[in-house]
Amino acid sequence: MWISGLLISTAVVWALAYRGAGTGVWIAAFAAALAVFTVGSDVAWYIATPAWVLSAIVVFLLGVPSIRRRHVTAPLFRQFRKVMPPISDTEQEAREAGSVWWDAELFTGKPDWHRLLHLPRPHLSQEEQHFLDNETQTLCELLDDWRVTHEDKDLPPEAWQYIKNRGFFGLIIPRDYGGKGFSALAHSEVVMKLASRCITGAVTVMVPNSLGPAKLLLHYGTREQKSHYLPRLARGEEIPCFALTGPDAGSDAGAIPDRGEVCYGEWRGERVLGVCLNWEKRYITLGPVCTLLGLAFRLYDPQHLLGEAEELGITLALVPRDTPGVTIGDRHVTLDIPFQNGPNEGRDVFVPMSQLVGGPEYIGQGWRMLVECLAEGRGISLPALSVGAGKMASRYTGAYAAIRRQFNVPIGRFEGVQEPLARIAALTYQMDAARTLTLGALDIGESPSVISAIVKYHLTEKYRQCINDAMDIQGGSGICLGPANLIGRAYQAIPIAITVEGANILTRSMIIFGQGAVRCHPWVLKEFQAAQDPDRARGLEDFDHAVFGHIGFVFGNVARSLFLGLTRGRLSGKPVKGPTTRYFQQLQWMSAAFALCADVAMMTLGGSLKRKERLSARLGDVLSELYLTSAVLKRYEDTGQAESDLPLVRWACENSLYHIQESLRLLFRNLPFRPLAWLLRLVIFPTGAPYTETNDHVDRDAAQVILRPGDARDRLTRGIFVSDDIRFRQAQIESAFVQAARVAPIEKTMREAKRAGILRGSNFEQQVQEAVAEGVITVTDAAELERMQRLRREVVMVDSFARYGKQSVLSAARPTKPAIYAV
Ligand SMILES: Cc1cc2nc3c(=O)[nH]c(=O)nc-3n(C[C@H](O)[C@H](O)[C@H](O)COP(=O)(O)OP(=O)(O)OC[C@H]3O[C@@H](n4cnc5c(N)ncnc54)[C@H](O)[C@@H]3O)c2cc1C
Repeated sequence: MWISGLLISTAVVWALAYRGAGTGVWIAAFAAALAVFTVGSDVAWYIATPAWVLSAIVVFLLGVPSIRRRHVTAPLFRQFRKVMPPISDTEQEAREAGSVWWDAELFTGKPDWHRLLHLPRPHLSQEEQHFLDNETQTLCELLDDWRVTHEDKDLPPEAWQYIKNRGFFGLIIPRDYGGKGFSALAHSEVVMKLASRCITGAVTVMVPNSLGPAKLLLHYGTREQKSHYLPRLARGEEIPCFALTGPDAGSDAGAIPDRGEVCYGEWRGERVLGVCLNWEKRYITLGPVCTLLGLAFRLYDPQHLLGEAEELGITLALVPRDTPGVTIGDRHVTLDIPFQNGPNEGRDVFVPMSQLVGGPEYIGQGWRMLVECLAEGRGISLPALSVGAGKMASRYTGAYAAIRRQFNVPIGRFEGVQEPLARIAALTYQMDAARTLTLGALDIGESPSVISAIVKYHLTEKYRQCINDAMDIQGGSGICLGPANLIGRAYQAIPIAITVEGANILTRSMIIFGQGAVRCHPWVLKEFQAAQDPDRARGLEDFDHAVFGHIGFVFGNVARSLFLGLTRGRLSGKPVKGPTTRYFQQLQWMSAAFALCADVAMMTLGGSLKRKERLSARLGDVLSELYLTSAVLKRYEDTGQAESDLPLVRWACENSLYHIQESLRLLFRNLPFRPLAWLLRLVIFPTGAPYTETNDHVDRDAAQVILRPGDARDRLTRGIFVSDDIRFRQAQIESAFVQAARVAPIEKTMREAKRAGILRGSNFEQQVQEAVAEGVITVTDAAELERMQRLRREVVMVDSFARYGKQSVLSAARPTKPAIYAV
C-alpha cells in the first residue's frame, strides 16, 4: 500500500513537473494526495493533524500572493539584489542588442519543432539571382587570385572599378538611395561566391556591406546624412571603413581611449559647434584606401557647451579622409591576403556636430549602435566566407581525392582519407544549413545576437577544420602556392576570419552562453529587470512572478531530462516521420538537459560564472550544437528530404550529439559543487552516455558524396564559383573529375585483367595496348583512359618558379612531358 502510494505520488509529481503545471494545480494535487493519505488509509490522528496543519501553512505561504511576496519573495529579492553580478553599461548594452529567436526555444528545454519547420525557406529574387549569375560571376573571373595575392598585392584596377560601378559596395543600401536593396541571403551568396574564388575580393566587398558607415547611417543617420552619403556609398564614390580598434582596445573595444572634445571650430569657412578629435587606430579594413572614416571615440564636454555632463560616452562620427589632421595610408601585411588594411590616426581633427552619426541626439549611444549593427553583420559576412571555403574544399578537394592515385588507386578509396573527406563534406552541409537558417531569420526582420555569435564562431572554426583537412588530403599540392593551388590562400586566411568581428576565444568563452543565458532564458532577464527596477514594489511583484515561474521551469526540466534520459528520447514527440525522427527526439532530450544544466550552473555559481569562462564555453558549445543540428534537420526537410543527402545529415547529427554529450560530461567534471554534478549526470544520462564518434560506415558514406559526381555534391556546393572555361583551374579539376568517374569501370576491368595475368606490361601504355589486343577493352575505352591520364597529370602538377624572392618570376609551371603511370 505504502509502496504503491509512493509510486503513484512520484508519477503524479513527475507528470505535473514535466507538463509545467501552475501553482494552483500543484496545490490541488497536493491537497488530493493528502486527502487520500489521511482519509483513504488508517493513519493515526496525531500524524494526520500535523500533516494537514503544516500543509495549510505551506499553501497559505505560497498560494496567497500578498503573503508569499512579503514572507517568501521579499527576502529572496533582497538576497538576489545583493549577489547580482555588477553589469557595466557596455555589457548591459551588448546584452540588450538584437533580438532572440530559435535560441530562446532551445533554452526552454522543449523547443517547438513545428515553429522551426514552418519557417519559410529563404529564397533569392530573380534580380538577385541574375546579379549572382552575371555581375558576381564576371567579378570572380576578373579576380585572378594568384595575381592579387602574389603579384599585385591588391585587386586589379579593373576589378576595383567593376566593384564600384556595379554596386557591390551598395548591396545593403535600399534602392531609394541608389543601392541594390538585397536580402541578407543575396548579400551572403555574393560574399560566398567571391570567397570561393578570391578571399581578398570577398573581404573587400563584405566590409562596406557589414559594420560600417552605410549600416550605421541606415539605422541611425539623420535625413541629411542618409541623402548625402548613402547614394555616394552605393555608387562607390565613397569608400568607407570603420575604425574602432586601436593598440589599447582590441577585444575590449569599449575601452577605447580615443577622445573627442566639444568645441567651436572652422568647417568649410564657417565657425560652428563641433568636436575636436584625437585618435590612434589599427587593423582597419579598407582604411588605407577609404575616403570616409566611420570613427568611434569617447566624447567629452569640458567647457559644458552642451550641458552639465562632462563625460558623454562613446560616440560615432563620419570623418572625410581629407579633413586636416587625418593621417592614413600605411598598410598591414595580413598573412598575404592583401585586402586593404592598415592603421590611421587623427591629431586635432575638427568635425561639426552634423558629422556625428545620427546627429547630437545619438551622442553617447555609440556602443549600443555598434553592438546592434554587429549583431546583424556577424551573422552574414564571415559565415558566408567560411561556407564559401568549405564548399570549395568539398568540391575541389573531393575531386582531387578521386583523381589523385597512389598505390594504384584513387586516394579517396583509402579509409584514412575518407575520414577527413567525410568531415569536409558533412561540416560544409552543417555550415551551409546554419548559414541559411540564420539568413532566413535576418530576412524576416529578426536580429538574433546570440545566434549570430554562434554562427560567427562555429562557422569560422569549421572553416578551419575543413581547410586543415583539405590541406592534409592535398598533401604537397596544397602546400606549393601558385595559380594551380586553390586552397593555400584559404588556409592562410583562416586566422583573419577567426580574429575579426569578435575574436573566437572571447566569443566562445564570454559571449555565446553569457549573452544567451540572460537574453534567451525564459526567466533570467525578467529577474534581472525586476531586481533593477527603481520602483521597489513593482520590482518585487515582477520578481515574484519570475522567480516562481523559474522554479517551476527547473522542476519541469528535471522531470523532462530524467524521463527523456530513461527512454533516450524515444517517447517524445515526432515532428516528422522518416530517417531523421530519432534525431529530433534526441535533440529534445539534449535541449532539456541543456536547460537544466544552464540553470544549475547559474544558480550555484551566480555572478562567478562570468569568470568561469570554460564552464560558460561548454554550455555555449551545447547551445551551439543544438542550433547547428536544428539547422541540419530543417535543411533536410526544406530540400524535400533528398535521400542522397542523408549520409551528410547522419554524420552531422551524430557528430553534434556526441559533442553535446562530451561537453556536458566535461561540464559535470568541472562543476565545483560536486554532489550536484553527480546528480546532474544521473538525471541526464541515467543509462550511461550513449553517443560515440561517427562510425566508419557513416564516414565512408559521407565521403562518397564528394567523391563522385551527383546531385548531392551539386546541392552541397551550390553557389560557389564554377566555370566551364578550361583556363580556370576549377574547370580543369572538374573535367578530370568527370572523366575519372567515366573511366572508373574501365580501370576496374583493367585491374581485374591484370590480376588474372592477362596484362603483363610494366607501364600504362603497354598495358592499354595489351588490353585492346586481348579484347579486354575497346579502342574507345583506351582513348578514354589516355585522356584521363592527361587530365590527371594536369591536376596533380604543382607550380614551380625560376626564382623565389624579390623578383619571383613564374617560369615553368608545368612540365610538358606526361609521366607514365601503371594502372
Ligand atoms: C585582418 C583584420 C581586420 C580587422 N578589421 C577591423 C576593422 O575594419 N575595424 C576595426 O575597428 N577593427 C578591425 N579589426 C580588429 C579586430 O576586431 C580585433 O583584432 C579583435 O577585436 C581582437 O582584438 P586584438 O587583435 O587586439 O586581440 P586581443 O584583444 O589582444 O585578444 C587576444 C586574444 O585574447 C582573447 N581574449 C581577449 N579577452 C578575452 C576574454 N575576456 N576571455 C577570453 N579570451 C579573451 C581573444 O579572443 C584573442 O584570442 C581587424 C582585425 C584584423 C586582424
